[in-house]
Amino acid sequence: MKTEILDYINSLEIIDTHEHLPAFEERRQPNDVIGEFLIHYFSVDLVSAGMSQTGLDKVRGEELSVLEKWDLIERYWQASRFTGYGQAIALAARDIYGIDEINRNSIEELNRRYLESYNEQHYHKVLKEKSKIKVALLDRSGEREWDKNYFIMSHNIGSLIYPSSFNEISGIEKETGIVIYTFDDYLRACEKLIDSLYSTSKILKCALAYQRSLDFTRTEKTVAEKCFNKIIGSKNHSNTSGGFACDIELSNYLFHYIVGLARERGMVMQIHTGIQEGNGNILSNSHPALLNRIFLDYPDMKFDIFHIGYPYQSELGVMCKMFKNVYIDMCWAHIVSPVASRHILDEWLEFIPYSKINGFGGDYCFVDGVYGHQYIARRNIAEVLSEKVVCGLFSVSEACEIAKAILFDNPARLFGIED
Ligand SMILES: [Zn+2]
Repeated sequence: MKTEILDYINSLEIIDTHEHLPAFEERRQPNDVIGEFLIHYFSVDLVSAGMSQTGLDKVRGEELSVLEKWDLIERYWQASRFTGYGQAIALAARDIYGIDEINRNSIEELNRRYLESYNEQHYHKVLKEKSKIKVALLDRSGEREWDKNYFIMSHNIGSLIYPSSFNEISGIEKETGIVIYTFDDYLRACEKLIDSLYSTSKILKCALAYQRSLDFTRTEKTVAEKCFNKIIGSKNHSNTSGGFACDIELSNYLFHYIVGLARERGMVMQIHTGIQEGNGNILSNSHPALLNRIFLDYPDMKFDIFHIGYPYQSELGVMCKMFKNVYIDMCWAHIVSPVASRHILDEWLEFIPYSKINGFGGDYCFVDGVYGHQYIARRNIAEVLSEKVVCGLFSVSEACEIAKAILFDNPARLFGIED
Protein backbone atom coordinates (compact mmCIF):
# COMPACT_ATOMS: atom_id res chain seq x y z
CA MET A 1 0.00 0.00 0.00
CA LYS A 2 2.73 2.44 1.00
CA THR A 3 4.70 1.80 -2.18
CA GLU A 4 1.51 2.12 -4.22
CA ILE A 5 0.94 5.63 -2.87
CA LEU A 6 4.58 6.64 -3.21
CA ASP A 7 4.74 5.27 -6.77
CA TYR A 8 1.64 7.22 -7.69
CA ILE A 9 3.01 10.44 -6.15
CA ASN A 10 6.37 9.94 -7.88
CA SER A 11 4.57 9.63 -11.21
CA LEU A 12 2.65 12.90 -10.78
CA GLU A 13 3.32 16.01 -12.78
CA ILE A 14 3.40 18.83 -10.22
CA ILE A 15 3.23 22.60 -9.94
CA ASP A 16 6.12 24.31 -8.17
CA THR A 17 4.76 27.36 -6.33
CA HIS A 18 8.04 29.17 -5.75
CA GLU A 19 11.58 29.38 -7.20
CA HIS A 20 14.42 31.90 -7.53
CA LEU A 21 16.26 30.22 -10.41
CA PRO A 22 17.88 32.30 -13.15
CA ALA A 23 15.00 33.21 -15.49
CA PHE A 24 16.80 31.68 -18.48
CA GLU A 25 19.15 28.71 -18.38
CA GLU A 26 21.88 30.72 -20.20
CA ARG A 27 21.97 33.02 -17.18
CA ARG A 28 23.30 30.33 -14.84
CA GLN A 29 26.53 31.69 -13.35
CA PRO A 30 29.32 29.17 -14.02
CA ASN A 31 31.03 28.04 -10.84
CA ASP A 32 32.28 24.77 -9.45
CA VAL A 33 29.88 22.41 -7.71
CA ILE A 34 30.79 23.56 -4.19
CA GLY A 35 30.39 27.23 -5.10
CA GLU A 36 26.96 26.53 -6.59
CA PHE A 37 25.68 24.22 -3.86
CA LEU A 38 26.68 26.80 -1.25
CA ILE A 39 24.97 29.83 -2.83
CA HIS A 40 22.42 29.52 -0.05
CA TYR A 41 20.68 27.14 2.41
CA PHE A 42 23.30 24.48 3.13
CA SER A 43 25.83 27.30 3.59
CA VAL A 44 23.69 28.49 6.52
CA ASP A 45 24.05 25.10 8.18
CA LEU A 46 27.83 25.20 7.68
CA VAL A 47 28.06 28.65 9.29
CA SER A 48 25.71 27.55 12.03
CA ALA A 49 28.06 24.60 12.62
CA GLY A 50 30.95 27.02 13.16
CA MET A 51 32.38 27.89 9.76
CA SER A 52 33.58 31.50 9.45
CA GLN A 53 32.11 33.96 6.97
CA THR A 54 35.58 34.44 5.45
CA GLY A 55 35.84 30.70 4.96
CA LEU A 56 32.45 30.67 3.29
CA ASP A 57 33.42 33.57 1.00
CA LYS A 58 36.52 31.61 -0.04
CA VAL A 59 34.61 28.43 -0.91
CA ARG A 60 32.07 30.42 -2.85
CA GLY A 61 34.84 32.10 -4.84
CA GLU A 62 36.81 30.83 -7.80
CA GLU A 63 40.38 30.89 -6.52
CA LEU A 64 40.57 27.55 -4.73
CA SER A 65 40.33 24.10 -6.28
CA VAL A 66 37.40 21.92 -5.18
CA LEU A 67 39.77 19.81 -3.11
CA GLU A 68 41.17 22.88 -1.34
CA LYS A 69 37.61 24.00 -0.72
CA TRP A 70 36.73 20.58 0.65
CA ASP A 71 39.59 20.91 3.19
CA LEU A 72 37.96 24.08 4.52
CA ILE A 73 34.42 22.76 4.77
CA GLU A 74 34.72 19.05 5.48
CA ARG A 75 34.04 19.02 9.22
CA TYR A 76 31.07 21.40 8.94
CA TRP A 77 29.69 19.54 5.91
CA GLN A 78 29.91 16.21 7.74
CA ALA A 79 28.11 17.62 10.80
CA SER A 80 25.34 19.16 8.69
CA ARG A 81 24.77 16.49 6.06
CA PHE A 82 21.61 15.07 7.64
CA THR A 83 19.67 18.35 7.72
CA GLY A 84 16.96 18.85 5.11
CA TYR A 85 19.35 21.05 3.10
CA GLY A 86 22.06 18.39 3.34
CA GLN A 87 19.62 15.68 2.27
CA ALA A 88 18.47 17.67 -0.78
CA ILE A 89 22.05 18.18 -2.00
CA ALA A 90 22.95 14.53 -1.43
CA LEU A 91 19.90 13.43 -3.43
CA ALA A 92 20.81 15.79 -6.27
CA ALA A 93 24.38 14.41 -6.36
CA ARG A 94 23.10 10.84 -6.34
CA ASP A 95 20.29 11.09 -8.89
CA ILE A 96 21.51 13.82 -11.23
CA TYR A 97 25.25 13.04 -11.23
CA GLY A 98 25.41 9.39 -10.10
CA ILE A 99 27.56 10.17 -7.03
CA ASP A 100 26.39 8.05 -4.09
CA GLU A 101 28.08 10.06 -1.37
CA ILE A 102 29.65 13.50 -1.39
CA ASN A 103 33.05 13.20 0.31
CA ARG A 104 36.76 13.84 -0.16
CA ASN A 105 37.09 10.95 -2.62
CA SER A 106 34.10 11.85 -4.77
CA ILE A 107 34.09 15.66 -4.80
CA GLU A 108 36.35 16.05 -7.86
CA GLU A 109 34.36 13.56 -9.92
CA LEU A 110 31.12 15.22 -8.81
CA ASN A 111 32.54 18.54 -9.95
CA ARG A 112 33.62 17.11 -13.32
CA ARG A 113 30.11 15.78 -13.96
CA TYR A 114 28.55 19.00 -12.69
CA LEU A 115 30.61 21.11 -15.14
CA GLU A 116 29.31 18.96 -17.99
CA SER A 117 25.79 20.12 -17.11
CA TYR A 118 26.61 23.44 -18.81
CA ASN A 119 26.87 21.59 -22.13
CA GLU A 120 23.38 20.12 -22.03
CA GLN A 121 19.81 21.31 -21.58
CA HIS A 122 20.13 21.07 -17.84
CA TYR A 123 16.89 22.88 -16.97
CA HIS A 124 14.96 20.49 -19.15
CA LYS A 125 16.69 17.49 -17.63
CA VAL A 126 16.24 18.52 -14.00
CA LEU A 127 12.93 20.39 -14.00
CA LYS A 128 10.99 18.46 -16.62
CA GLU A 129 12.48 14.97 -16.91
CA LYS A 130 13.65 14.30 -13.37
CA SER A 131 11.32 16.49 -11.30
CA LYS A 132 8.20 16.40 -13.52
CA ILE A 133 7.46 20.07 -12.88
CA LYS A 134 4.82 21.42 -15.23
CA VAL A 135 5.63 25.01 -14.34
CA ALA A 136 7.22 26.94 -11.48
CA LEU A 137 6.26 30.35 -10.11
CA LEU A 138 9.41 32.45 -10.26
CA ASP A 139 10.44 35.27 -7.92
CA ARG A 140 13.20 37.33 -9.57
CA SER A 141 12.91 40.80 -8.16
CA GLY A 142 12.56 43.42 -10.88
CA GLU A 143 13.04 41.01 -13.82
CA ARG A 144 10.38 41.26 -16.48
CA GLU A 145 11.36 38.44 -18.85
CA TRP A 146 11.53 34.73 -18.24
CA ASP A 147 11.57 31.39 -20.00
CA LYS A 148 7.92 30.52 -20.44
CA ASN A 149 8.78 26.84 -20.92
CA TYR A 150 9.52 26.63 -17.22
CA PHE A 151 8.19 29.64 -15.38
CA ILE A 152 5.37 32.04 -14.58
CA MET A 153 6.55 35.22 -12.84
CA SER A 154 5.40 36.01 -9.34
CA HIS A 155 6.20 39.72 -9.37
CA ASN A 156 8.10 40.80 -6.26
CA ILE A 157 6.67 44.15 -5.18
CA GLY A 158 8.95 44.65 -2.15
CA SER A 159 10.72 47.69 -3.58
CA LEU A 160 7.40 49.41 -4.36
CA ILE A 161 6.21 48.99 -0.76
CA TYR A 162 9.53 49.51 0.97
CA PRO A 163 11.73 51.55 -1.35
CA SER A 164 15.30 51.96 -0.14
CA SER A 165 17.17 53.83 -2.86
CA PHE A 166 16.71 56.56 -5.45
CA ASN A 167 17.86 54.00 -7.98
CA GLU A 168 14.70 52.01 -7.33
CA ILE A 169 12.55 55.10 -7.71
CA SER A 170 14.19 56.06 -10.99
CA GLY A 171 13.64 52.45 -12.13
CA ILE A 172 9.90 52.91 -11.55
CA GLU A 173 10.03 56.23 -13.44
CA LYS A 174 11.73 54.60 -16.41
CA GLU A 175 9.37 51.67 -16.49
CA THR A 176 6.19 53.73 -16.24
CA GLY A 177 7.19 56.97 -17.96
CA ILE A 178 5.88 58.89 -14.93
CA VAL A 179 8.32 61.38 -13.43
CA ILE A 180 7.95 61.29 -9.67
CA TYR A 181 7.89 64.71 -8.00
CA THR A 182 5.12 64.14 -5.48
CA PHE A 183 3.60 61.33 -3.44
CA ASP A 184 0.63 61.24 -5.81
CA ASP A 185 3.02 60.79 -8.73
CA TYR A 186 4.51 57.82 -6.90
CA LEU A 187 1.07 56.28 -6.29
CA ARG A 188 0.11 56.78 -9.93
CA ALA A 189 3.35 55.14 -11.03
CA CYS A 190 2.64 52.18 -8.72
CA GLU A 191 -0.79 51.76 -10.27
CA LYS A 192 0.59 51.90 -13.79
CA LEU A 193 3.28 49.37 -12.90
CA ILE A 194 0.80 46.98 -11.29
CA ASP A 195 -1.31 47.19 -14.44
CA SER A 196 1.65 46.32 -16.59
CA LEU A 197 2.67 43.44 -14.28
CA TYR A 198 -0.91 42.20 -14.30
CA SER A 199 -0.85 41.93 -18.06
CA THR A 200 1.89 39.28 -17.76
CA SER A 201 0.96 37.42 -14.55
CA LYS A 202 -1.65 37.87 -11.84
CA ILE A 203 0.66 36.81 -9.02
CA LEU A 204 2.52 39.13 -6.65
CA LYS A 205 5.13 38.32 -4.04
CA CYS A 206 5.94 40.12 -0.79
CA ALA A 207 9.10 39.09 1.07
CA LEU A 208 9.26 42.09 3.38
CA ALA A 209 9.50 39.97 6.55
CA TYR A 210 13.25 40.00 5.80
CA GLN A 211 13.38 43.77 6.31
CA ARG A 212 10.51 44.74 8.59
CA SER A 213 7.66 43.39 10.68
CA LEU A 214 4.56 42.04 8.94
CA ASP A 215 2.47 44.30 11.15
CA PHE A 216 1.11 46.62 8.45
CA THR A 217 -0.91 48.95 10.65
CA ARG A 218 -3.10 51.35 8.70
CA THR A 219 -1.55 54.80 8.28
CA GLU A 220 -3.13 58.10 7.22
CA LYS A 221 -2.15 59.25 3.75
CA THR A 222 -0.98 62.63 5.12
CA VAL A 223 1.50 60.86 7.44
CA ALA A 224 2.80 58.67 4.60
CA GLU A 225 3.06 61.69 2.34
CA LYS A 226 5.16 63.55 4.92
CA CYS A 227 7.60 60.61 5.09
CA PHE A 228 7.73 60.49 1.30
CA ASN A 229 8.42 64.21 1.03
CA LYS A 230 11.24 63.88 3.54
CA ILE A 231 12.87 61.23 1.33
CA ILE A 232 12.43 63.20 -1.90
CA GLY A 233 13.69 66.33 -0.12
CA SER A 234 16.88 64.51 0.87
CA LYS A 235 17.71 63.60 -2.72
CA ASN A 236 21.21 64.58 -3.63
CA HIS A 237 20.97 65.65 -7.24
CA SER A 238 24.63 65.08 -7.93
CA ASN A 239 24.39 61.51 -6.66
CA THR A 240 20.95 60.20 -7.59
CA SER A 241 21.56 56.55 -6.80
CA GLY A 242 21.88 56.88 -3.02
CA GLY A 243 20.05 54.81 -0.43
CA PHE A 244 17.62 56.01 2.25
CA ALA A 245 15.68 54.61 5.19
CA CYS A 246 11.99 54.17 4.39
CA ASP A 247 9.77 55.04 7.35
CA ILE A 248 7.54 52.25 8.54
CA GLU A 249 4.44 54.50 8.24
CA LEU A 250 5.14 55.11 4.56
CA SER A 251 5.68 51.42 3.97
CA ASN A 252 2.46 50.54 5.86
CA TYR A 253 0.47 52.91 3.69
CA LEU A 254 2.02 51.58 0.50
CA PHE A 255 1.31 47.98 1.49
CA HIS A 256 -2.41 48.72 1.87
CA TYR A 257 -2.37 50.75 -1.34
CA ILE A 258 -0.75 47.93 -3.35
CA VAL A 259 -3.00 45.26 -1.80
CA GLY A 260 -5.98 47.46 -2.76
CA LEU A 261 -4.80 47.63 -6.38
CA ALA A 262 -4.14 43.88 -6.46
CA ARG A 263 -7.55 43.15 -4.93
CA GLU A 264 -9.38 45.19 -7.57
CA ARG A 265 -7.64 43.22 -10.29
CA GLY A 266 -8.22 39.79 -8.73
CA MET A 267 -4.51 39.14 -8.20
CA VAL A 268 -3.10 36.62 -5.70
CA MET A 269 -0.40 37.71 -3.24
CA GLN A 270 2.27 35.32 -2.01
CA ILE A 271 3.71 36.40 1.33
CA HIS A 272 6.87 35.19 3.03
CA THR A 273 6.31 34.21 6.65
CA GLY A 274 8.44 32.31 9.15
CA ILE A 275 12.15 31.46 9.08
CA GLN A 276 14.34 33.85 7.13
CA GLU A 277 17.20 32.54 5.01
CA GLY A 278 20.67 33.52 6.24
CA ASN A 279 22.51 33.59 9.53
CA GLY A 280 20.74 36.37 11.41
CA ASN A 281 17.44 38.26 11.36
CA ILE A 282 14.48 39.12 13.61
CA LEU A 283 12.42 35.95 13.49
CA SER A 284 9.32 37.42 15.15
CA ASN A 285 8.98 40.00 12.32
CA SER A 286 7.81 37.12 10.16
CA HIS A 287 5.02 35.77 12.37
CA PRO A 288 2.01 35.01 10.15
CA ALA A 289 -0.42 36.11 12.90
CA LEU A 290 0.79 39.68 12.25
CA LEU A 291 -1.19 39.45 9.00
CA ASN A 292 -4.44 38.64 10.80
CA ARG A 293 -5.83 42.14 10.36
CA ILE A 294 -4.96 42.16 6.65
CA PHE A 295 -6.85 38.91 6.13
CA LEU A 296 -9.88 40.46 7.84
CA ASP A 297 -9.68 43.74 5.95
CA TYR A 298 -9.36 42.22 2.46
CA PRO A 299 -11.74 39.23 2.51
CA ASP A 300 -11.92 38.99 -1.28
CA MET A 301 -8.16 39.04 -1.85
CA LYS A 302 -6.42 35.66 -1.95
CA PHE A 303 -3.22 35.25 0.05
CA ASP A 304 -0.81 32.34 -0.41
CA ILE A 305 1.20 32.17 2.82
CA PHE A 306 4.69 30.80 2.50
CA HIS A 307 6.91 28.31 4.23
CA ILE A 308 4.12 26.94 6.47
CA GLY A 309 4.99 29.97 8.63
CA TYR A 310 7.63 27.78 10.26
CA PRO A 311 8.07 27.69 13.26
CA TYR A 312 4.58 29.26 13.58
CA GLN A 313 2.84 26.62 11.47
CA SER A 314 0.10 25.96 14.04
CA GLU A 315 -1.02 29.60 14.03
CA LEU A 316 -0.95 29.67 10.23
CA GLY A 317 -3.10 26.54 10.13
CA VAL A 318 -5.67 28.17 12.40
CA MET A 319 -5.86 31.28 10.18
CA CYS A 320 -6.22 29.08 7.11
CA LYS A 321 -9.15 27.39 8.82
CA MET A 322 -10.70 30.71 9.91
CA PHE A 323 -10.25 32.61 6.63
CA LYS A 324 -11.45 31.48 3.26
CA ASN A 325 -8.98 33.85 1.56
CA VAL A 326 -5.89 32.32 3.24
CA TYR A 327 -4.01 29.45 1.60
CA ILE A 328 -1.05 27.55 2.99
CA ASP A 329 2.06 27.12 0.88
CA MET A 330 4.57 24.42 1.83
CA CYS A 331 7.31 25.89 -0.37
CA TRP A 332 10.79 25.62 1.18
CA ALA A 333 9.29 23.77 4.16
CA HIS A 334 10.14 20.16 3.27
CA ILE A 335 13.87 20.96 3.38
CA VAL A 336 13.74 23.49 6.22
CA SER A 337 12.37 20.76 8.45
CA PRO A 338 11.29 17.50 6.81
CA VAL A 339 9.92 16.24 10.13
CA ALA A 340 7.95 19.39 11.01
CA SER A 341 6.47 19.34 7.50
CA ARG A 342 5.27 15.77 7.95
CA HIS A 343 3.89 16.45 11.43
CA ILE A 344 1.94 19.54 10.45
CA LEU A 345 0.61 18.00 7.23
CA ASP A 346 -0.55 15.07 9.36
CA GLU A 347 -2.45 17.56 11.55
CA TRP A 348 -3.72 19.73 8.70
CA LEU A 349 -5.29 16.83 6.81
CA GLU A 350 -7.66 16.43 9.76
CA PHE A 351 -7.93 20.14 10.50
CA ILE A 352 -8.41 22.15 7.30
CA PRO A 353 -9.89 21.38 3.88
CA TYR A 354 -7.08 19.89 1.79
CA SER A 355 -8.08 22.21 -1.04
CA LYS A 356 -6.34 25.00 0.94
CA ILE A 357 -2.87 23.41 0.87
CA ASN A 358 -0.23 23.93 -1.82
CA GLY A 359 2.18 21.06 -1.25
CA PHE A 360 5.46 22.01 -2.92
CA GLY A 361 7.70 24.88 -3.94
CA GLY A 362 11.44 24.34 -4.38
CA ASP A 363 12.57 27.88 -3.42
CA TYR A 364 16.05 27.33 -4.83
CA CYS A 365 18.53 29.64 -6.54
CA PHE A 366 20.22 26.65 -8.26
CA VAL A 367 18.36 24.08 -10.26
CA ASP A 368 19.85 20.88 -8.83
CA GLY A 369 18.43 21.70 -5.40
CA VAL A 370 14.91 21.68 -6.82
CA TYR A 371 15.29 18.01 -7.69
CA GLY A 372 16.37 17.09 -4.13
CA HIS A 373 13.57 19.14 -2.62
CA GLN A 374 10.76 17.70 -4.72
CA TYR A 375 12.08 14.21 -3.96
CA ILE A 376 11.80 14.88 -0.21
CA ALA A 377 8.39 16.57 -0.61
CA ARG A 378 6.93 13.63 -2.51
CA ARG A 379 8.33 11.20 0.06
CA ASN A 380 7.00 13.26 2.97
CA ILE A 381 3.52 13.55 1.50
CA ALA A 382 3.41 9.83 0.66
CA GLU A 383 4.42 8.95 4.20
CA VAL A 384 1.73 11.10 5.83
CA LEU A 385 -1.01 9.92 3.48
CA SER A 386 -0.04 6.26 3.94
CA GLU A 387 -0.36 6.57 7.72
CA LYS A 388 -3.89 7.95 7.31
CA VAL A 389 -4.79 4.95 5.15
CA VAL A 390 -3.41 2.62 7.82
CA CYS A 391 -5.55 4.40 10.44
CA GLY A 392 -8.58 3.93 8.21
CA LEU A 393 -9.30 7.64 7.63
CA PHE A 394 -9.41 7.20 3.87
CA SER A 395 -8.67 4.70 1.09
CA VAL A 396 -5.60 4.43 -1.13
CA SER A 397 -7.47 5.99 -4.04
CA GLU A 398 -8.58 8.89 -1.82
CA ALA A 399 -4.97 9.31 -0.66
CA CYS A 400 -3.91 9.57 -4.31
CA GLU A 401 -6.64 12.10 -4.99
CA ILE A 402 -5.45 14.27 -2.08
CA ALA A 403 -1.84 14.02 -3.25
CA LYS A 404 -2.80 15.20 -6.72
CA ALA A 405 -4.84 18.04 -5.20
CA ILE A 406 -2.05 19.44 -3.07
CA LEU A 407 0.69 18.97 -5.68
CA PHE A 408 -1.21 20.05 -8.77
CA ASP A 409 -4.93 20.86 -8.69
CA ASN A 410 -4.88 23.34 -5.78
CA PRO A 411 -2.04 25.54 -7.07
CA ALA A 412 -3.45 25.26 -10.63
CA ARG A 413 -6.80 26.61 -9.43
CA LEU A 414 -5.39 29.29 -7.13
CA PHE A 415 -2.95 30.67 -9.70
CA GLY A 416 -5.10 30.12 -12.78
CA ILE A 417 -2.71 27.67 -14.43
CA GLU A 418 -4.33 25.91 -17.35
CA ASP A 419 -3.98 22.16 -17.73
ZN1 LIG B 1 11.94 32.29 -1.70
